[in-house]
Amino acid sequence: MYDVIIIGGGPAGLTAGIYCLRANLKTLILEKETFGGQIASSPLVENYPGFKSISGAELASNLYEQVDELGADIELEEVLEIKPGKIKKVITDSNEYETKTVIIATGAKYRLLGLLDEEKYLGNGISFCTSCDGAFYKDKVVAVIGGGNTAVTNAIYMSDVASKVYLIYRGSKLKCEVKLMEKITKKDNIEVLYNTNVIKLSGEKELNEIVIKNNVEESKIKIDGMFISIGMDAQTEIIKHVLDLDENKYILADNCLTKEEGIFVAGDCRHKKIRQLATAVNDGAIAASCVIEYLK
Ligand SMILES: Cc1cc2nc3c(=O)[nH]c(=O)nc-3n(C[C@H](O)[C@H](O)[C@H](O)COP(=O)(O)OP(=O)(O)OC[C@H]3O[C@@H](n4cnc5c(N)ncnc54)[C@H](O)[C@@H]3O)c2cc1C
Repeated sequence: MYDVIIIGGGPAGLTAGIYCLRANLKTLILEKETFGGQIASSPLVENYPGFKSISGAELASNLYEQVDELGADIELEEVLEIKPGKIKKVITDSNEYETKTVIIATGAKYRLLGLLDEEKYLGNGISFCTSCDGAFYKDKVVAVIGGGNTAVTNAIYMSDVASKVYLIYRGSKLKCEVKLMEKITKKDNIEVLYNTNVIKLSGEKELNEIVIKNNVEESKIKIDGMFISIGMDAQTEIIKHVLDLDENKYILADNCLTKEEGIFVAGDCRHKKIRQLATAVNDGAIAASCVIEYLK
């Protein structure tokens, strides 16, 4: 019997783990893919207080080490179902656990463009993570799709690796921080294509050409790789029958509290305005303090 099971080993879940462990709670953290969550795939983090500049992988590894050293039980298992009640059951792909409380910190994941053959090119020219796959495109031509902070960060990162970067955005104005805008305007190998959508992918086995369409015409661009950076979808499938979700499937949980007794929510999977590291770790601390209070 655990005091708390934390579902998701991203920044929110691992932060919740630190707080719960320091309160001497018997804590299990379950992660289905990568400890550190999304940030593990970020080339560079420059807005996390206390670190002027750190790679996402290093930040993720530091977080993991911190919870590990505090004595967390940590398992690489996918949670398939949560059964609410005074004692909650958490069913994974290989085990069934009992716990007094649950923190859901399942985050969000990359969105696809919805094009024909897109899945076929995943790992064969289509990627999401510039720090993981960017080096494959040294001195090559890549496209980054999107117009927010992540897309612009990825384009800037790739401009130091690739010979040419197309930043393809369906809107008419990038939606990024001022600092990023300043950086991108100084990069002469980034070409921003506004009001433009990718409408077709082609290539024998590897993606090597895209068809784009703007307000006026269609055209083809030869590329070696494409990074899709158009946002995330909430990973809330496992909880949708238990908790209330908003129209985008994020969990409605003001102050990390839910309508279910002893179930709390932290991080990017929660309905909120800003999804960043700072807000994820903030949620982790709040959800853990709710657990501590509840168990008292
Ligand atoms: C490329 C990139 C760059 C970024 N750069 C920055 C930046 O510079 N600064 C910044 O502040 N933010 C940045 N972010 C955003 C930041 O990474 C996220 O806001 C933060 O990771 C959210 O943390 P989280 O723990 O809520 O969710 P996540 O990081 O999404 O972690 C959730 C975890 O839960 C796991 N999970 C999901 N479902 C299950 C299940 N059923 N069973 C078990 N485990 C499950 C997932 O595998 C995942 O590891 C970036 C994001 C990306 C993708």
